[in-house]
Amino acid sequence: MFDWLIVGAGFAGSVLAERLASQRNERVLLIDRRPHIGGNAYDRYNDAGVLIHQYGPHIFHTNSEAVFDYLSQFTRWRPYEHRVLAEVDGLLVPIPINLETVNRLYGLSLDSDQLAQWFASRAERCDEIKTSEDVVVSTVGRELYEKFFRGYTKKQWGVEPSQLDKSVTARVPTRLNRDDRYFSDAYQFMPLHGYTRMFERMLDHPNINRMLNTDFDDVRNEVSYRRLIFTGPIDEYFNFRFGKLPYRSLRFEHITLDKPRHQPVAVVNYPQTHAYTRVTEYKHLTGQEHPKTSLTYEFPTDDGDPYYPVPRAENAEIYKRYEKLAIAQQNVRFVGRLATYRYYNMDQVVGQALATFRRIAKEIPLSDAAFDTASVAAE
Ligand code: FAD
Ligand code: UDP
Repeated sequence: MFDWLIVGAGFAGSVLAERLASQRNERVLLIDRRPHIGGNAYDRYNDAGVLIHQYGPHIFHTNSEAVFDYLSQFTRWRPYEHRVLAEVDGLLVPIPINLETVNRLYGLSLDSDQLAQWFASRAERCDEIKTSEDVVVSTVGRELYEKFFRGYTKKQWGVEPSQLDKSVTARVPTRLNRDDRYFSDAYQFMPLHGYTRMFERMLDHPNINRMLNTDFDDVRNEVSYRRLIFTGPIDEYFNFRFGKLPYRSLRFEHITLDKPRHQPVAVVNYPQTHAYTRVTEYKHLTGQEHPKTSLTYEFPTDDGDPYYPVPRAENAEIYKRYEKLAIAQQNVRFVGRLATYRYYNMDQVVGQALATFRRIAKEIPLSDAAFDTASVAAE
């Protein structure tokens, strides 16, 4: 008898497996339908020996000291500040849009005050900022919106920015200075030996049993467990009772080139051209020295593995109905990006999993067996 069955070995499932096993001495069965741990953060060495991210670029950044300290138990870090260029009107310019972006694109030499006026004269008045279009046109005006955001967003999400919640494009700030970093969080690092190695260390505990290539449906009636943690898509768990929740997917095209470097930064965005949204060259992220280099092209699709919940009001309504059912489930917890239908970054999922653990610790007494062993261990 397992104390917990955990479905999904991404950040949500792995953090909870680690906490329950190490802090409560409970027996955990962690399953994933994929052949590996790490969920979408999984990385691996390809045939050429270059470390790549199987599911596109994953850059760790957080303002949470607690999340950073927690993960630091399982990895050392490599300082890395992410920088992105966008190909716009045939030029490679920095995104987030900043002083340098505007000066380069328009052949100007504005300072920060002048840029503020430049934006103000172009920004459109918007009484209530609701959509992903509103956020951008009310800050930098329609022309830069068209150049940087409209095409990229239509490719990425399959809908106009006006059809998406403001939170989507609000992820990308606008700056008046020359700060061209993609993120401004206090902690910006990559796991020194990669994500998969970090997950290996997290899950290296005698109380954690893993089964890969295993779907929840394969085992739900085969193994006995007291409680369940589900980190897959919530609509799937409830057999799509209220209809399918849309998740946007991607097709990844991984290539390796016979040269050490291909592009000047880790990620180049293509808001105006091509069917792909962005191209990632991993060696910038990982710091790996290698005579070859590997890149990934991301082609957004509707079909395929669920990667992105789609933030818009009508989907939030459907999710709320599922959430109501979820709350009513005895002995089941829903955690993570797919199970809570939130466009969360890795650090937010870790924070959510740690908070779930704290609630479990408060609400659920230790099982007899775990209690016995825990007290023996403490003696
Ligand atoms: P997942 O990683 O999706 O794990 C869920 C796991 O559950 C999966 O492995 C799945 O196979 C398994 N599963 C689902 N259903 C079942 C079932 N029925 N039976 C068995 N197994 C099941 N975040 C950042 O912080 N920085 C970034 O730079 C970043 N870049 C990203 C780039 C891309 C292209 C994508 C898609 C995401 C990115 N993210 C990034 C977000 C990050 O991937 C997520 O926040 C995080 O991985 C979510 O973890 P999770 O455990 O909730 O979900
Ligand atoms: N975005 C855009 N152009 C860009 C970068 C981002 O239009 O050059 C929009 C797009 O809608 C994207 C969103 O901003 O989905 C959030 O960007 P982010 O880089 O955070 O996306 P993620 O890394 O999560 O795919």
